[in-house]
Formats: sequence, C-alpha cells, structure tokens
Amino acid sequence: MRVAVLSDIHSNLEALEAVLGSMGTVDAVWHLGDVVGYGPEPDGVVQRLRDVAAVGVKGNHDDAACGSAAIASFNVDARAAAEWTRAHIGEETRSYLAALPELIAPAGSSFTLVHGSPRHPIWEYLDTVWAAHENLALLETPHCFVGHTHVPIVFRQRRGGGMAATAVPPESRLRLDDRRVVLNPGSVGQPRDGNPAASYVILDTDAGFATWRRVAYDIGATQAAMIVAGLPPRLVRRLSFGQ
Ligand code: ZN
Repeated sequence: MRVAVLSDIHSNLEALEAVLGSMGTVDAVWHLGDVVGYGPEPDGVVQRLRDVAAVGVKGNHDDAACGSAAIASFNVDARAAAEWTRAHIGEETRSYLAALPELIAPAGSSFTLVHGSPRHPIWEYLDTVWAAHENLALLETPHCFVGHTHVPIVFRQRRGGGMAATAVPPESRLRLDDRRVVLNPGSVGQPRDGNPAASYVILDTDAGFATWRRVAYDIGATQAAMIVAGLPPRLVRRLSFGQ
C-alpha cells in the first residue's frame, strides 16, 4: 500500500493542492491534525481532505476551532488566527473537525497516528529523545506518526538500547524494521525547519520505506489571501522563511 502522510496543513489550500498534485497515485491519505488554524482557507482544505477520503486525527488548532477553552493558552497571533477560524468556518467544517479522533491505528497497518504524542494526543510536543522514549513505551503498534512541531524528524530505538533522534533532509528514505520508531513528516502548510516548501511523507508499506518529500507552492497566493482575511502579519511573513 502506498500512503501519503500529511500534517499541519493549517488552512493552506495552495500548499495542500501542491502536495496532492505531486504525490502520484496513492491508496490512502493519512493526516495528523492541525488541518486548520493560521491560514486563510479552512473550508477549502477540509473539502479537499473529504474529496480524497483522508483518514486522520485532531490537532490543537482543530480543537480550538471547535470551541475549546484551551485557546486561552495560545500565543497572541495563534489566538487571533484561531478566533478568525472559529468565526469563518462553515458548519460542515466544524462538524468534520469535531468528529476527528485523538488517536487512530489504521486497520491493517503497523502505525499509530496522533497529532502530538501517544500519551497527550493533542498537546505534547514530541521533540526530545526522552519524550520519545516514554511515548514509545505506550504504543500498541511498532511505528507511529506524529506532527505538531512542524519539523521533519525521526526518533528510533537503537539496537543496543537507548533512542536516537535524526533530522530528516528532503528525499530521505527510512527503512522500517522491527524497532519502534516515531516519524514526523513535517508540515504541509507552515514548515518551521527553515525550508518554506511543503513537507510530507510517502509511505510504502509493502517495501517498508518512508520517503520525505518537499514541494514548492505559490506562497504569495496564500499570503495574499491571508492579508485579505486580516490574519496577523507575522503569520503571513513566516511562510516566506519556513519558520
Ligand atoms: Zn500545527
């Protein structure tokens, strides 16, 4: 099975279309949450995910868009964007986001999908080997995809014990084996690793490979739509730099 794994699309329809247009034929699309927030086209992004029958989980920004009180913990720009999203999404989008599960293990696969981490599905940033170590112990599958940090990375058990963290350059391939591993595909709609191109993973479950991909998209078009929407200027600018 060939699967496209997308995370943190953040209402960036231009980036999502570029990914869907570049990924080739796939048997499934998985997403890791934060479908909305920050960007200008939440309804369009949810519609496209419905079109491709994506299977996925809920992120903190999806939760915020549905009315979670946790919006109070967001920084000022994220909160402004979350309030904008709440005010502008249609009822179909709201019900789609509200119905997303916090954690799933797609049938027939060796993967758990979650936005943050297995122990705190919506909120924990899985960005240290220690957090990865503790979370891998909780997994009921050998392999796990997470998002939330917007940075492509792999945490994998070492043969001799311990845990290794590996940053992932574009076009990197990881061969899956019996070791427990956490993979982060990076972000489609707001990359934060210094590369502004949309980031995602193509998973080949038969061959046992995950491949990280980057695709350029029309960043200026997304930024123009954000300005028209009145979204915070800092959120507009950061897309240019992948930060
Ligand atoms: Zn996010």
